[in-house]
Amino acid sequence: MKHFPIFLDVEGRDIAVSGGDEAALAKLRLLAKSDARLTVYSAAPHADIRNLAASGELALVPRAIKAADLAGKVLVYAANEDADEDERVVTLARTAGVLVNHVDNLDTSDFITPAVVDRDPVVVAIGTEGAAPVLARTIKAELEESLSPALGPLARVAKGFRHLAKSLPFGRKRRTFWSDYYSRVGPRAYDKGGEAALAGTLEHLLAEHVNAGPDIGTVTFVGSGPGDPELLTLKARRALHDADVVIHDRLVTAGILDLARREALIVNVGKQGFAPSTPQAEINALLVRHASAGRQVVRLKSGDATVFGRLDEEVDACAAAGVSCSVIPGITAASAAAASIGRSLTRRRCNSSVRLITGHDVEGYAEHDWRALARPGEVTAIYMGKKSARFLQGRLMMHGAAPDTPVTIVENATRGDQRVIATELAYLSEDIGEADLTGPALVLYGLAPRDAEAIARPKREIVL
Ligand code: SAH
Repeated sequence: MKHFPIFLDVEGRDIAVSGGDEAALAKLRLLAKSDARLTVYSAAPHADIRNLAASGELALVPRAIKAADLAGKVLVYAANEDADEDERVVTLARTAGVLVNHVDNLDTSDFITPAVVDRDPVVVAIGTEGAAPVLARTIKAELEESLSPALGPLARVAKGFRHLAKSLPFGRKRRTFWSDYYSRVGPRAYDKGGEAALAGTLEHLLAEHVNAGPDIGTVTFVGSGPGDPELLTLKARRALHDADVVIHDRLVTAGILDLARREALIVNVGKQGFAPSTPQAEINALLVRHASAGRQVVRLKSGDATVFGRLDEEVDACAAAGVSCSVIPGITAASAAAASIGRSLTRRRCNSSVRLITGHDVEGYAEHDWRALARPGEVTAIYMGKKSARFLQGRLMMHGAAPDTPVTIVENATRGDQRVIATELAYLSEDIGEADLTGPALVLYGLAPRDAEAIARPKREIVL
């Protein structure tokens, strides 16, 4: 982020605009919405600027800007549409130490003016650091449509009510009160009685919330999917947004954690580098402690919480402590990996079942029904199979699996750094070793990527 967004208090402060034509006018239309004092410097101002001056919206100085004019100015716009004159203004501003915007010239500007969606006092500023003005306009149009015009009055009235709302304890209680007002009760009252109806509505609503019983905490187990935030379910998204506490595993990506509220407590209980992960008993205790204190806890697990996620132990701990909990399913790594290579996990007349197995369990390399797995046509999704690749390969071949059975390894499925390695059982451990995998990887035994046939040894890594 080269440009850091802030909201500047310009009430009663001076802003200078150098220029009198379209570029100046475009900025003035935006600036006129603020409470700043505007002065335009132009020897030949546009008629609209003269009109704004006549109606007292701005002061007009009918000449070019001078060094002395910059004293006390908080911002300056160089909007002359004349390269030499604008450069002169930029130099004057720099000398005077006033922040300058050189219109349509990112490199010589100290600040840029965002696209604005105005529901005063709610203001949304959109910036693309000059990379995509068209995109900024599209986002603005979408926001203009989705943010009700009532938002301004709702927020205005609420502002004067904030001190009264302090009779509710800080945190969830107060937040629920405000979200009830903004999303449900307020808009309805505004539709019926306009701005005048809002104060009374707020009083009623506050009394209701003050008299409500204590908060009851819950734990929601949420499958965060394989990593791409767009693969979260809507329910998962909502739960994350509502959470007071988010307790997550190592494989949950930063893009997903970003969807939690800024004030939420985020606890990482996964392994960090070579440090050990938090013991299960401690995780259980953490869930119970936060929920018992009345907080909404989201326990975020990668993929689907019901697949190799030790879900039952945590649910049992909640049940034993009388904490209510629920589970929101997510997309498991096997589904994500299969989607990435364009293959089904089950196929008509070929394999009517699919196994999800783990490469190792608490006892070490995990034993399975190898004879069944080795049968032609079988498909198995192997989780945590990187380290156990040699063992898996040996066991399967020993039980009669064909050495040329297709195997596909999908590393970082659905993420920007996804890699797909297509190989055969006979080369599995060698190829996993060579691939030097650093991210989570799923081994799809019995499946080749749809377009892998063309790829011959030794080059089996393919980009999909
Ligand atoms: N509950 C998770 C699995 C947790 S076990 C789920 O349903 O997906 C962790 C293993 O899942 C990893 O070792 C890896 O084998 C697999 N895995 C998780 N995320 C993955 C991803 N984005 N790409 C490939 N494999 C992944």
